[in-house]
Amino acid sequence: MSGTAWKWPSPRHLVSPAVLLAALALGSYSFRYADQLAKKGEQSLVESTQVLGDQTRERVDNFIIDSDRSLFDAVDLGHLSDFQRRWAEIVRQSPVVEAALVLDEHFQIVPSGYVSRRNVSDAEAFRGLFMTKILPDLPLADLPRDFHRHWHHEYNGRDYLISYIKRAHNGHHFYIVLKISLEFLTTRFLPDELATLEGKVLLCVLDAHRNVVYGRPVGQPGKFLYEKAFPTTLYNWRLQMAPPNAALLQREGRTQRRFEYAIIALMLAITFAGVALLERAIGKERRLNELKSDFISNVSHELKTPLSLIRMFGELLALGKLKSPDKAKEYAEIITRESERLGRLIDNVLDFSRIERGRAAYDFQMGRLDTVVERSLDVYRHRLEREGFRLTTKIDPELPEALIDESAMTLLLLNLLENAVKYGKGEISVYLTLVSGRLRLVVGDQGPGIPLDEHQRIFERFYRTHGARGTAVRGSGIGLSLVKHIAEAHGGHVTVDSEPGKGAAFIVDIPLPPNAAPTRVKAA
Ligand code: ADP
Repeated sequence: MSGTAWKWPSPRHLVSPAVLLAALALGSYSFRYADQLAKKGEQSLVESTQVLGDQTRERVDNFIIDSDRSLFDAVDLGHLSDFQRRWAEIVRQSPVVEAALVLDEHFQIVPSGYVSRRNVSDAEAFRGLFMTKILPDLPLADLPRDFHRHWHHEYNGRDYLISYIKRAHNGHHFYIVLKISLEFLTTRFLPDELATLEGKVLLCVLDAHRNVVYGRPVGQPGKFLYEKAFPTTLYNWRLQMAPPNAALLQREGRTQRRFEYAIIALMLAITFAGVALLERAIGKERRLNELKSDFISNVSHELKTPLSLIRMFGELLALGKLKSPDKAKEYAEIITRESERLGRLIDNVLDFSRIERGRAAYDFQMGRLDTVVERSLDVYRHRLEREGFRLTTKIDPELPEALIDESAMTLLLLNLLENAVKYGKGEISVYLTLVSGRLRLVVGDQGPGIPLDEHQRIFERFYRTHGARGTAVRGSGIGLSLVKHIAEAHGGHVTVDSEPGKGAAFIVDIPLPPNAAPTRVKAA
């Protein structure tokens, strides 16, 4: 059977998703909580406006109904002739009633059954309107006895509120009809009645065409707007109400909510960024650990090879089993070469570990880099020739002194040469020139080169190119990181100029101290 068995992810891999999930849950809870809190605050304001609005509508309704009742009760159907006489007194009692009519069961006004407090012509005009237009609309025929109803309607562009009731007397039915003064309601009653609400609330009354018949328009209070028709009397009119600072409250609410959302979003973003950074750091650490273990096996390998060569040729020499004296020389040379390599490797590892522990101490002194380069090349030249390399050098004759640590610069150059030998072939070039007020040391080879995407990474500790990893070329991955450290400690930097298949040139720039004067090289 093929396929890999499913494995539980390790706890370490569950930490970040768990933290992100928790942050998301907390974030969404906070969003909802902030939202609910804001909505609750608004809701209570909306509710209190609603309560006030309902009470106000009821008060207006009750006032009209109570006025009607007192007047209905004042009409003595047995003594209608007195009706005209008592009218003045009735009007005093119910200033909201403007006219009253008593109709018989044939819907005709009974004698002395019409009184009005308007002048004669107005009174006659209303009687005409009532008989021709209003009366046909009133559902009097179906009205049960003692039932009190209202008719709120527009005639000839004016609103009328009619209150009517069916009464019985001596076996006959009568209808008492009242005309309620809308003018009194809007100019006297409402201002008196609603004076206590002044300043506490914005309110107005709208007619069926949404024209303001009382109060001032309430503006744009949005969700804080209360609007309802009057329940039984002025049912074509609507009461509008809003808290006085509704617009401000709306704006404040929006700002507050935006602020809360922004804070929560920021917290979430910080958590996400924190987790991302942590993941990155963990990944980096893991990669470094992998590289370190590669390094240990590489270094052990590098130590083992020269050691076994030294041992083998040392034993051969000790046994004296030599075919010719030249062989003895050859073996001794191998032993020297391998112990040099061993020495350099150990130097590198020691220097590297000093840098790693932050203990790298440089001894900077004014000195000549060209001398350091010449000296190192003298040491190395023999090896290069022996390994079949051609060495081309170009060292400017007049170079100023620089502030350098000579042994560190030697280590830098030897590392670059070592790499050129390890990876290159044919020719190796070493140039030391003055470029834009800096000393430029270039070590070039004709090796396989380095892919562009690895130009930065080769200077990282333990890093070896993909091409180098699978080959027999041994390496620890610390040489170039040492070169970089040394160049930077001198205030300079190192770069590589290379393309796969076209060799590589490592360029080290070292700055000169201010006022550095060129020195003439002594004639050899
Ligand atoms: P190493 O001990 O592996 O040589 P270095 O730090 O000196 O370590 O170099 C890092 C990597 O850079 C090497 O493993 C190799 O892949 C690449 N490299 C360094 N110098 C050269 C060069 N001259 N030509 C091609 N590749 C090189």
